[in-house]
Amino acid sequence: MKIRSLVRFALRNPLLRRAHLRLHAGEAFECPFCGYRSKDWASIGLDFPVLREKQVVGAGLREGGCHSCGSSDRERLVWVVIKDELRMLERLGSSILHVAPEQVLSERLLAAGFERYVCGDLYTEG
Ligand SMILES: [Zn+2]
Repeated sequence: MKIRSLVRFALRNPLLRRAHLRLHAGEAFECPFCGYRSKDWASIGLDFPVLREKQVVGAGLREGGCHSCGSSDRERLVWVVIKDELRMLERLGSSILHVAPEQVLSERLLAAGFERYVCGDLYTEG
């Protein structure tokens, strides 16, 4: 079992989770999903050489996960663009198509009250 999987498993324990959140608490970053304020981001992603070689933004091994809700840097960015730049939450009569939906962003979009939310992925059931 990889170390990140072990950490994720250990954080299901409420006492360990509370200690983990206290350890990473700070004022450098704030998650727009859960409001958790931290001094750093959690390590996320996979280390594929091609992603490093092509310098793909929002992919590969990086420091970009929220310690509290598990959201990624990419889904937090999409959420902020939808909410603040496109102001889509002010036009909830509209529909939204979410390709390759990330879990935290998907939950937030479902709760936002769009008239229609459609998502799909080649490899995800449901
Ligand atoms: Zn969060």
